[in-house]
Amino acid sequence: MSSTDAAGDGSTGDGRSRRNFLQLAAGVAAGTVVTGHTAEIGAAFEQVTDGDLEVVWLQGQSCTGCTISVLQGEYPSLEGVLGEFRMEVTFHPTIMAEAGEPAIAAMSDSPDVLVVEGSTPVDIPEAATVGRAADGSSKPMVDWVQELAPESEYVVAVGNCASFGGWPAAENRENLYGLGANVTGARGVQFEGREPPGVLGPDFTSGAGLPVVNLAGCPVHPDYVLLTLATVLNGHVPELDRYNRPKPFYEPLVHDNCALRGYFDRGEFAEKPGDDGCLYKVGCAGPYTRCDDQSRLWNDGTSVCLNVGAPCIGCMEPEFWDRFAPFDEELERQSFFGPFTAEQAGWAGIAAAGVGIGAHAVRKATGYGSVGMGDVDGEGDSTVGGEDGPAVDDGDGPTADDGNGGER
Ligand code: SF4
Ligand code: SF4
Repeated sequence: MSSTDAAGDGSTGDGRSRRNFLQLAAGVAAGTVVTGHTAEIGAAFEQVTDGDLEVVWLQGQSCTGCTISVLQGEYPSLEGVLGEFRMEVTFHPTIMAEAGEPAIAAMSDSPDVLVVEGSTPVDIPEAATVGRAADGSSKPMVDWVQELAPESEYVVAVGNCASFGGWPAAENRENLYGLGANVTGARGVQFEGREPPGVLGPDFTSGAGLPVVNLAGCPVHPDYVLLTLATVLNGHVPELDRYNRPKPFYEPLVHDNCALRGYFDRGEFAEKPGDDGCLYKVGCAGPYTRCDDQSRLWNDGTSVCLNVGAPCIGCMEPEFWDRFAPFDEELERQSFFGPFTAEQAGWAGIAAAGVGIGAHAVRKATGYGSVGMGDVDGEGDSTVGGEDGPAVDDGDGPTADDGNGGER
């Protein structure tokens, strides 16, 4: 990093105001931070276009959906600087102008920020390669990650695949095409599902002293990338939850801010996607998924999955795919409602409201936001999310806990 906010007041002495956009993002309305601070965010990215800072963006087992999500130009006021950023990132397989050897030659070997998109295969390294090694053979993604990450000031995993392994790491329960589970050995950069090591191991920290910053989602929300990159390009260190996701984005529980929540509390459930009602019975993973997209929304504040009749599929969480698939069936095996059925829980909420104790108390009594679901992961414990216990929601909205969601 060329300069930091030494004074801690957002200024750097060179006339630029450098903000911690992640701090600003906590608890504000959708788009407010981006639209209210476009000049400062633009200045952060201009450090890359000016050549002051270097960003390398690698893609492993990726569908490129995260790149598309980030660079589709959601904010017209930032289009110019993001357009330049695309051209000046020292390496990005999808969008850079160069190709072949010149592209590899242009790549920084000690980037300020290393961005990784897509999972990294370690059992079959040739399943994802970038350029060529010194001996002329295709160079596996895993080698690039292991070489560049220790030389980087920050390492940012973009999307669920890079954060936790995503669908390339799925169990493949149906054994499609006769393939077994995760045949390529797909991993996240520092996680495999809910735990390290991923590719880099549990003890890895980048030059800034941080583990890999995980920006989960399938795809990632563009604001998450935009504001996180702008923050670290400004030399600020993001505060992370137990899955190394920035807290301001991944603390709220989808279920607590869902527009369909009234249906849930009244016990009105859709029988199929698109029906009126809460989507829990058609597979909604909102009670187990943490992110702020119910208030932030997507496509410049237009809408979000649940608002258009699509159940939350848990794409912001570790073990997304296996943990929530099939995505259109009620998540029964985790006793979300304790001893109750979905209908009973909803009706209990109505009854509770009638006697003045409120649906929140019933949610607690029925196990909402807590574990109480037995050994669903087969690891002999009952807390699935790990040793530090469940993220018990006290019914007062998003909780400032360890970020492990309403565990499933
Ligand atoms: S997280 Fe989803 S959108 Fe992003 S690369 Fe993986 S599959 Fe594609
Ligand atoms: S279960 Fe899903 S659809 Fe129902 S209120 Fe919760 S998040 Fe919304």
